[in-house]
Amino acid sequence: MSDSSPLFSDLAVAGVRGLQPYQPGKPESELKREYGLDDIIKLASNENPLGPGARALEAAQQAMTGTHRYPDGNGFDLRQAVAAHHEVDPECVTMGNGSNDVLAMVANAFLGPGREAVFSAHAFAVYPIVTQAAGAASRVVPANRPNHAMPYGHDLAAMSEAVTDAVRVVFVANPNNPTGTWLQANDLRAFLERLPATVIAVIDEAYFEYADDPEYPDTSRWLGAFPNLVVTRTFSKAYGLAGFRVGYGLSHPGIADLLNRVRQPFNVNTMAQAAAIASLADQDYIQQSVNLNLEQRHWLSDELNALGLRVLPTAANFLCFEVGPNAAAIYEGLLRDGVIVRPVANYGLPGFLRVSIGLPAENARFLASLSRQLSGAA
Ligand SMILES: *Cc1c(COP(=O)(O)O)cnc(C)c1O
Repeated sequence: MSDSSPLFSDLAVAGVRGLQPYQPGKPESELKREYGLDDIIKLASNENPLGPGARALEAAQQAMTGTHRYPDGNGFDLRQAVAAHHEVDPECVTMGNGSNDVLAMVANAFLGPGREAVFSAHAFAVYPIVTQAAGAASRVVPANRPNHAMPYGHDLAAMSEAVTDAVRVVFVANPNNPTGTWLQANDLRAFLERLPATVIAVIDEAYFEYADDPEYPDTSRWLGAFPNLVVTRTFSKAYGLAGFRVGYGLSHPGIADLLNRVRQPFNVNTMAQAAAIASLADQDYIQQSVNLNLEQRHWLSDELNALGLRVLPTAANFLCFEVGPNAAAIYEGLLRDGVIVRPVANYGLPGFLRVSIGLPAENARFLASLSRQLSGAA
């Protein structure tokens, strides 16, 4: 276009100039538009396939009548409920518009030019984005080897070694997305003990509720031992409230105070706060969601193995499986069948796809379509 507008990218701050936006799972509506399909299943963003819990929905609907008012900007009731759930002081809780928001707050409060963040290869895509947007540099640590017990998972020894004086934040996803791999209590605790007290350790526990290994740690219990710890949790996954956008950080009150200085004033809306509080009180629904996931995860994992596919170990509500060099074509073939999964080439795993565990019928339909793609009969 020959208008007189300046080259806007020259005007942006350095970190933003080189930034690629986060690529979400393909929304159903987009596939409908592009392929003219009606009957679509989305297994691409690790949402709870059961939908929001009835009690959360009812609370949100009731809260809607008050939405001519601003939300409670301090989230008093939500922070009380979260604090009671974790048996911590409400001063330890920072509420976020999803836990992504808390990750961005950590970056804005503790990163900047001349500072660095450490995280693993194949880790959650938001870590490099918030780091770069804050003007800081990323130290991406090579992950475990493919033949490791936790293939492509975090190599904590290597991550410790990557911590230089410039490093102010380390991001650890436990379990990790997109691999599904996880860290056990002993290893993670030893890692935190090695970490200088001046480095903020973010443990991202978005999939906490799904982890079934008895050695998987609840690091919210470690806040007293590690004042530099920030634990993030979300209502987007097992709690079934992804569309509401609500999550939180747990930390020392001194860190929470700093995060709250960069937090947007009304970052969590009225209905989201009400839904989150109600869902915390509805642990039966969480248990039901977790049970369904476990049962279907085992089934689907066995079925993928039976197709001759390698499935990475997972403690979450998704499976990362290897299909080889045709991954992009297989992804497209699944789309034509109305099945949305997640390509993970942008996570450095070009031969893999990630599928969220859905309802039994959805998982069966995904599997049938996948086996058609693999046999070339699609
Ligand atoms: C889904 C996910 C989140 C949660 O994002 P929200 O902003 O809470 O919806 C955080 N971390 C990881 C690793 C995730 O996969």
